Amino acid sequence: MKALILSLLLTLPGISALGQTFDAFYASMADSCNQDTVTEYLQQFEDLGIKELLNPALDNTKDWIVQKYQNWGYTDIVEDNFQVQGVTTTNIIVTKTGTLYPDTYVIIDGHYDTKNGPGANDNGSGTVILLELARLIKDIPTEYSIKFIHFSAEEVGLEGSEHYVANVANPSNLDVKVLFNIDQVGGSGGETNNTIICERDQSPPNGNNLQSDIYTNELAVCTQLYSNLQTQISFAYGSDYVPFMLDGYVVTGFYEENSSPYTHSINDSISNMDIPYLHQVTKASMGALLHFAVAYQEAGINTLEASSMTLSPNPAGDYIQITLKDMTSDKLYFSVTDLSGKTMYESMITATNGTFEIDTRSLASGTYLLKVESPKVRIARRFVKK
Ligand SMILES: [Zn+2]
Repeated sequence: MKALILSLLLTLPGISALGQTFDAFYASMADSCNQDTVTEYLQQFEDLGIKELLNPALDNTKDWIVQKYQNWGYTDIVEDNFQVQGVTTTNIIVTKTGTLYPDTYVIIDGHYDTKNGPGANDNGSGTVILLELARLIKDIPTEYSIKFIHFSAEEVGLEGSEHYVANVANPSNLDVKVLFNIDQVGGSGGETNNTIICERDQSPPNGNNLQSDIYTNELAVCTQLYSNLQTQISFAYGSDYVPFMLDGYVVTGFYEENSSPYTHSINDSISNMDIPYLHQVTKASMGALLHFAVAYQEAGINTLEASSMTLSPNPAGDYIQITLKDMTSDKLYFSVTDLSGKTMYESMITATNGTFEIDTRSLASGTYLLKVESPKVRIARRFVKK
């Protein structure tokens, strides 16, 4: 629902200045983004019709999205209903758990409702990018958890994202590393589309703007590393990141450089888009998501399920007990760090499964991260010292 003309465009500092390096694994994942798959999803999205509050197409699209995640084997799929203008509609939230920081989230989001037309570009383009990324990274381990969020009711005033921030994220103190919003990135048919706008928070409150700036620069670097697109940096406005940035969360986002003249019309269709451009944006999005969530190649690493390590009591008093099961290594490195990353305790143990105790009397009250690592295993849990 962008309505403002962009007036502030900055150039990007050189890649080397930012210290981010090319990752061959991320590049291979970006290359696996399939233009035919993206086009097929987009055609299905367009065929679903006008996705407005009182149109059954909106709910049908919700079901179509949910079905895709179910088909790929995602299990943590939440359909969060809320009321807008007396009508019930639904945000879809799909969570993939991280291996090292399961309680810290990279959110990638895009709205799936449309206005006056099928919305192939606004925002079928963002919707199918989320789907293609989710399809490909289902079994790729990431250190941070990822939430794929498909918001509804963006076009009637950012209602879906406002609902999520006010009623889901804030009450649970959701720990969001960065929110990556994708809205209208399908290009304008007949024009030269070779640049994507990377959007950063420049609005009050100002405390979160520097972090937004850093992530937006990283987004631009990922774009240059993993797609053939050029980048411009501008400010965030008029899309689902707004309720987040107003409440202090760190955001970044993508928006097309050549803004389509068919937005919010019956002609917002695939035929008026630039599909190879959308494919490049998909590749850039893949690189950025893997970078933000710190994906890594499995290469023999056994990333264990949350149930493989339990801590008790939590909150801990004078000690904490660690119970391990399903471990395959016989040498494990234990460490406890505070939230700034300072190591408070470390040791090597040479047992596999069972229960171990760590003396926590010397720890000050607060939250800590307990990690177990070996060449084959990475697992981490938070605990609180009373
Ligand atoms: Zn939009």
